[in-house]
Amino acid sequence: MNQPAHLLLVLPCYNEEEILQKTNQTLQAYFGELLQAGLIGSESKICFVDDGSRDRTWALIETICKENTNAIGLKLSRNFGHQSALLAGLEHHAGQFDCYITIDADLQDDIRAIENMLLKNREGARIVYGVRDDRSTDSWFKRQTAESFYGLMQNMGVPVVFNHADFRLIDDRVLHEFQNYRETNMFLRGMFPLIGFRSDKVFYKRLKREAGQTKYPLSKMMLFAWNGITSFSTTPMRMVLYFGLFNFFISLLILGYAVSAFFFKETVPGWTSTLLPLTFFSGSNMVAVGLIGEYVGKIYEEVKARPRFIIEKTV
Ligand code: UDP
Ligand code: MG
Repeated sequence: MNQPAHLLLVLPCYNEEEILQKTNQTLQAYFGELLQAGLIGSESKICFVDDGSRDRTWALIETICKENTNAIGLKLSRNFGHQSALLAGLEHHAGQFDCYITIDADLQDDIRAIENMLLKNREGARIVYGVRDDRSTDSWFKRQTAESFYGLMQNMGVPVVFNHADFRLIDDRVLHEFQNYRETNMFLRGMFPLIGFRSDKVFYKRLKREAGQTKYPLSKMMLFAWNGITSFSTTPMRMVLYFGLFNFFISLLILGYAVSAFFFKETVPGWTSTLLPLTFFSGSNMVAVGLIGEYVGKIYEEVKARPRFIIEKTV
């Protein structure tokens, strides 16, 4: 008989007042089932991380923690973003649990997958990725943008698991190793595959958000994708290099033509032939400099080594 694992469930919450109570009720009922089934230990907890919400989210978390002995709350001092909120919940409790599962507060990721994650963990997987194999409840637009996001990431050499977001189980050892990754620009779903160890996947159907608005509009999603690519891949920079080499080759041809024209043809000082290459090459130079600037900016961010989150208080 396997010892039941002490589980910490981490939920990042940003302006989630409309859904928190319901989320907690659903989770409490489900935790009861897991306890009964002997899948989790009695010390298991649910941790709500308030990511600097401007609504009543923290007040609700305080109430929930008063009413439920297995609920914990963390309040970040401002909005640090989804990734930092997750990390705060994990790192603050490192060493205290056997395994950790992160899941969005709207429970769009089917909680029924948790039991499968726990089973895979028993079988020896230290990381279990939740993978959405059915997105039919997402809007067409969300699905297209999200899936092209994963495709683009993989093409750029970022080690993401296709259609896996941040619904995953890690055990305490993985969390311990993860803490040695000290970067500020965090793209968690690309970082866990780097840690290694035995991993597995569970599949589930993505559900509809039941209340409240998405906190990931298109602009934020694009920013997130861009952050993921520039944090993991130098492919964009290499593409600039190839483009530069191509330009260089073309300019050699132009040079050859100009020299032979000088000797064998009547050369008329040309305005177009001067202006065109001039604008073209100065344009491509700009692109290159801009992209390099992007990476220099990243170095700047990392060198500063600012804290990735600050916990204001706990209950
Ligand atoms: N979230 C957060 N900080 C932010 C944005 C989002 O903690 O700055 C949380 C949010 O409360 C939710 C999760 O991240 O629990 C995922 O957000 P959402 O459900 O809005 O994204 P979607 O499912 O639409 O991609
Ligand atoms: Mg959601």
